[in-house]
Amino acid sequence: MLQPQERKNSEQLFERAGKHIPGGVNSPVRAFKSVGGNPIFFSRAEGAYVFDEDDNRYIDFINSWGPMILGHGFPEVVEAVQMQAARAMSFGAPTELEIQLAETICEMTGIDMVRLVNSGTEACMSAIRLARGYTGRDKIIKFEGCYHGHGDSFLIKAGSGASTLGVPNSPGVTKGTATDTLTAPFNDLAAVEKLISENPDQIAAIITEPVAGNMGCVPPAEGYMEGLRALCDKHGIVFIMDEVMTGFRLAPGGAQERLGVEADLVCYGKVIGGGMPVGAFGGKREIFQHIAPTGPVYQAGTLSGNPLAVISGLTTLRYLQNHPEVYAHIDHMTERIEDGMREILENSKLPFTINRLGSMISIHFCENEVMDYTTASEGNNNYFKQFFHGMLNEGIYLPPSAYETWFVGNTIGESELEHTLYAAERVIEEMSA
Ligand code: PLP
Repeated sequence: MLQPQERKNSEQLFERAGKHIPGGVNSPVRAFKSVGGNPIFFSRAEGAYVFDEDDNRYIDFINSWGPMILGHGFPEVVEAVQMQAARAMSFGAPTELEIQLAETICEMTGIDMVRLVNSGTEACMSAIRLARGYTGRDKIIKFEGCYHGHGDSFLIKAGSGASTLGVPNSPGVTKGTATDTLTAPFNDLAAVEKLISENPDQIAAIITEPVAGNMGCVPPAEGYMEGLRALCDKHGIVFIMDEVMTGFRLAPGGAQERLGVEADLVCYGKVIGGGMPVGAFGGKREIFQHIAPTGPVYQAGTLSGNPLAVISGLTTLRYLQNHPEVYAHIDHMTERIEDGMREILENSKLPFTINRLGSMISIHFCENEVMDYTTASEGNNNYFKQFFHGMLNEGIYLPPSAYETWFVGNTIGESELEHTLYAAERVIEEMSA
């Protein structure tokens, strides 16, 4: 039996946190609800490792849910942030740094224009508003299992039976909002075509994660993204790729570059801030000119383009732009994790499916192919819970939900890989006993 670590300080902090912070956390997935147990409180981080309040050390496969692609405490980023903090923390007025970040984003991704915001949620909400303002249409299509932040329009699930109308999946989202969001299964072009034909000239945008990372990792089937692109072209629909997770991770130009499919609007977050709160949405000039103050579609932010956040993102992106070997390294390490996990699981009696694209990977404890939300839901969550807690006790910090992808950072080296696979072998052996 693997011994649970001592986490007394985390336990005490969690109890204290619950008194003034709902559920003790500032974002629900941190609460460990889907794996059981209490969240861990962290105090510091270095390279590939995070340290909790009891001084336990973990190899970090969350990396702040993606942003820390260069590892924790990356010296160039830390130094740039420190220097900027001494110079000025915020103006709420234009700075040259914002131009530099916009230029870098456009160079790396090939988009024409970009607006900085403070989170991925804001980026996606604003992109939808822009698409609606540009087309003069109200409805959007999103995909079951894709996450685009907590904006009202996205917290919608498919209606039942023959209804194509969405239903709120959180109290507080109005029925009126839900009627404008249509949902289709991921990787199902026929379902999208049906929605479009049932709602002629009413669809403003199709928004999708190009490689889904919020139902585990689910890559697009061959031709699927190209198919969405073609449908958007045919019906005058704005094609929005939500690259909050994939942007600057799958390639310098994100999924657009990796998959060779261009969107009309793109949303960014996570890596773009290098660990600080930054989001962005951007795209084609023709559409972007409709945003305020150039055009009538309103969008704003007191701290948008904040110099501290911008310098962190800019330093991170410039490093990635100048060191393409980062992408080769994280892809290679993730491939070796896949190979190692596959071998371990094949030698066990446990059902499994591993999905991977580049440095995004996830394990579902089921035998079927995982290609959408329904098939992702067939994973055995009890196995996942055991795997998650077993790995945690071995000093490996994985996302606390079967519906999240692992995020592999550039500081994962040989010893971290060895430790991870050795831990997995022990945990899977215990699970199979
Ligand atoms: N879009 C995708 C694909 C995401 O994965 C996330 C967050 O995980 C978001 C949007 C929302 O980003 P944020 O949490 O920064 O608001």
